[in-house]
Amino acid sequence: EITLSGVHKWYGQYHALDDINLSIAPREKVVICGPSGSGKSTLIRCVNRLEAHQQGRIVVGGVEVGEDERKVDAIRREVGMVFQQFNLFPHLTILENCILAPMWVKRIPRAQATEIAMDYLNRVRIPEQANKYPGQLSGGQQQRVAIARALCMNPKVMLFDEPTSALDPEMVKEVLDTMVSLANEGMTMVCVTHEMGFARQVADRVIFMDQGRIVEEGEPDEFFAHPKTDRASLFLSQLL
Ligand code: ATP
Ligand code: MG
Repeated sequence: EITLSGVHKWYGQYHALDDINLSIAPREKVVICGPSGSGKSTLIRCVNRLEAHQQGRIVVGGVEVGEDERKVDAIRREVGMVFQQFNLFPHLTILENCILAPMWVKRIPRAQATEIAMDYLNRVRIPEQANKYPGQLSGGQQQRVAIARALCMNPKVMLFDEPTSALDPEMVKEVLDTMVSLANEGMTMVCVTHEMGFARQVADRVIFMDQGRIVEEGEPDEFFAHPKTDRASLFLSQLL
């Protein structure tokens, strides 16, 4: 479903992604971890062209990510993304945040978009917040709205970039629970996260990055118990 082959990305002189080769199957759950600055965000942002790669190929659902804007639009319709900082529109209510893209990008009528949005707000267990503004919600609630909003586009893949790292500890669990149930429903997921409990529970594969490269990958139990590289051992020892 998602394939990266020989992908390189530079920010000016800085080599941010160095020969990334990665293939993610439908329904697979992949967790990406690694030290700060290792290129994790850059990698997932290249998948939906929030960043442009300069070498190699990225193919999502048979469509190549590149200069062709129509293809990029098509890919973004299939790929939902959730960020560390929620990125909700502050001047729109929770419901309006959720129906905006379905209405304007997918041309779904307001009534139907509202029905879909309320369904997802129910699933993330905050339907009663629908008419509030993001600033009136807790961080955990805002992040669940961000997940619901992405799901309203009926994506085939969800990308998460450290969705819990800006949250107070007591709110982390409610967001992770939402992600776990999404995983159990069979969503294809790529999650940048250092939540190792989550990785053990849902990941089919953990990818460890350092200095723009995939240094190590494996099943979670194996990776956490027996990291093969010193770099990964050091990283894991610092997490605990
Ligand atoms: P973190 O864990 O801190 O989020 P990360 O693994 O997500 O780190 P990236 O954000 O992908 O790392 O950044 C990789 C490298 O690229 C870093 O050294 C960063 O400084 C650099 N970088 C990222 N975005 C830009 C940019 N827009 N312009 C220039 N350099 C950038
Ligand atoms: Mg990052």
